[in-house]
Amino acid sequence: MNSTNNTVSLETLTSLCKRRGFVFQSSEIYGGINGFWDYGPLGIQLKNNIRDEWWKAMVECPPLGPDGDPLQIVGLDSSIIQNPQTWVASGHVGGFSDPMVDCKATKNRYRADQCWVVAFESSEAGEEGHHLRLEVAVEADAKEVAIETAREKLSKKEKKSLGDNPAAVAYTQMDLPDGWPRLSPATQENTLTEPREFNLMFETYVGAIKNDESKAYLRPETAQGIFLNYKNVVDTSRVKVPFGIAQIGKAFRNEVTPRNFIFRSREFEQMEMEWFCHPDESQKWFNFWKEERMKWWESLGIEPENLRFRDHDADELAHYSNACVDVEYRYPFTAPDFGELEGIAHRGCFDLTQHQEASRQKLEYLEAETGNRYLPNVIEPASGLTRAVLVILCEAYREEWVPKDGVEGGPIAAEPGQPTPEGYESRVVMKFLPKLAPVKVAVFPLLKNRPELVVKAREIYYMLRPKWTTFYDQAGAIGRRYRRQDEVGTPYCVTVDFDSLQDDTVTIRDRDTMEQVRVPINELETVLAERLG
Ligand code: ATP
Repeated sequence: MNSTNNTVSLETLTSLCKRRGFVFQSSEIYGGINGFWDYGPLGIQLKNNIRDEWWKAMVECPPLGPDGDPLQIVGLDSSIIQNPQTWVASGHVGGFSDPMVDCKATKNRYRADQCWVVAFESSEAGEEGHHLRLEVAVEADAKEVAIETAREKLSKKEKKSLGDNPAAVAYTQMDLPDGWPRLSPATQENTLTEPREFNLMFETYVGAIKNDESKAYLRPETAQGIFLNYKNVVDTSRVKVPFGIAQIGKAFRNEVTPRNFIFRSREFEQMEMEWFCHPDESQKWFNFWKEERMKWWESLGIEPENLRFRDHDADELAHYSNACVDVEYRYPFTAPDFGELEGIAHRGCFDLTQHQEASRQKLEYLEAETGNRYLPNVIEPASGLTRAVLVILCEAYREEWVPKDGVEGGPIAAEPGQPTPEGYESRVVMKFLPKLAPVKVAVFPLLKNRPELVVKAREIYYMLRPKWTTFYDQAGAIGRRYRRQDEVGTPYCVTVDFDSLQDDTVTIRDRDTMEQVRVPINELETVLAERLG
């Protein structure tokens, strides 16, 4: 993608997604349900395209390993509801929780690590030689955003007494200094409880009777299904350590504060791969997967400067993990800070040990050459497919100024807040890489009331449809039809005009440059194949 962009507001993106059929609020006609989303006709195409890229890069054509040999990774699709002992052994029943705080006045519930108190220090010393403080409670995913939001909330009077750009510190409810009030974002008063643990798993019952014995859980991650099938795969697939098992599927977490559109939802999709390796080689593979995963995100057209690694501190590590690094993206709602997109964890042999003990089934790997038995270590790249959809949408969104007829030149990036210059009009364009674009080609007859144009355009549509997702549109002025395709990110539009009837050529219009070239119809497929890659 050509230029960086992380300035699109979530409101703008959410409304585009709804207007054009990418993502709808779930059960909207009943007022929706918080934390659940439906993927519309274009959204499902985009999601499937990202999913297919991951599956190709993991299962169908995994990268070459550090020594140049191709890696072995097989696929799996395990069930969403598993024997509930799974979640006891994995540690989720005991430990899978977020600390949260409740507002005693409003009964609102917040994630304790996302509920900030921001304090500004005035430039002048206060009465007792201390700096004056002003505290504001804010809900945010990132410290920078919390401080910025609090800054915007300051009144003129407060700004006056604090001076220009006062220094600020911010603490979440998890690391609030002793004696500070627990300010609620709802009341701005000291009405929050101390942080408490809250289990994130959705519970259900299997069978006719609802009691403790029939209680089960919707899986909060896809990974455990892989560990449960580890032995089946080893026994049936002729894989040898090191090897991987990959899975894509739904996961459910009763998040305390679902928010930021599809970033944090209660039902979402994950793409996870468990890489089983010899304990002595685990660090090598951890480093390998860390680099590979970053390369993959970049291959989707994400600007490298909007991506970064973040190593977890020892006190942040999940109960099972020896080391963990996140791939983070600069989301519009965290900028200039970053937020999680994928976690790459060194899980040691925690999961296999737990399941071996709890199930009393031997899960050790027998090395045929040496006769050694051991529990492999596991490196796990785990990412969110639905979160990836959000990243790709944010990254693709552009507002541009395009020259009107008779004005020279191509589209230029619109300057936020500035009026459209004379001779230009504005457009919204989604600059998806062709491989991710929900629709690859649109076919138009120049005019809908000229049957000869319509017949020819439909012939071309039928010709292209089996090869690429193709959209036929004859409604409205041709310029409007181009704009509609720009807004959903269709890389190429093919138009049948009066010249086409004479010489069997059509125009291909490029989404990004808006240039049009004339191509003989019998070369159209070849030319599109080259351009779509
Ligand atoms: P967070 O700290 O944001 O709650 P996590 O560290 O618990 O996330 P993991 O358990 O490592 O997340 O899950 C792996 C990936 O699954 C995350 O990197 C993210 O992309 C995705 N994911 C996790 N929770 C959600 C959610 N509620 N909604 C959408 N995607 C999610």
